Amino acid sequence: MLNETSTPAMPETSPEEWRPVYGYESLYAVSSHGRVRSLNREVWTRNGHFRKYEGRLLTVQIDTSGRPVVTLSRNGTVRMPRVCVLVAEAFHGPRPDGLMVRHLNDIKTDNRPDNLAWGTMAENGADYVRNGFHHYARRQTCDYGHEYIGPNLMINPSKPTARLCRACNRARCIVARQKVRGIQVDFRPLADAKYSELMSGTNVFSTGMTGAA
Ligand SMILES: [Zn+2]
Repeated sequence: MLNETSTPAMPETSPEEWRPVYGYESLYAVSSHGRVRSLNREVWTRNGHFRKYEGRLLTVQIDTSGRPVVTLSRNGTVRMPRVCVLVAEAFHGPRPDGLMVRHLNDIKTDNRPDNLAWGTMAENGADYVRNGFHHYARRQTCDYGHEYIGPNLMINPSKPTARLCRACNRARCIVARQKVRGIQVDFRPLADAKYSELMSGTNVFSTGMTGAA
């Protein structure tokens, strides 16, 4: 008898398809709803008895990264693989070298095959940003409260998802240049002054010393 409550099923209307767990084909199955169960087993115990084990749904735990994991055992060896890996292996084939599982909607508990793909770490990061979960993708200002808008927004063409504060960037350049000359310049007031300049369109001191220190 399967315990239907031990593993939360994804909200899902499509029929649940079960496939063998890669590397554990005779022991476990994983489903298109992201559930894992053990299969019925018949074994001879060490003292010569024949025992039948009824398959059951496995309890899912959440690892420190927020991904569901299950406990699998084989010949006394216990492993705790991520459910997303088991689903990807069963429904998309074994893991290609160096690739990891992508959650396309970035919801780490959504382990339906349609939401999973093998991909590079860079693709995984792109999913994260595209789905708006990245700290910096969501932010509207830099650390100093300068808004990422209009003339103050800097985009690095090689990293278009990362936004930079032009005012802070200019202030940093000036501080560094003056430091070489042995002149100490306070960063914060200079950055604020640069921000005011940029936003008011009076970009007078684009490279030189402003005297704001
Ligand atoms: Zn700034």
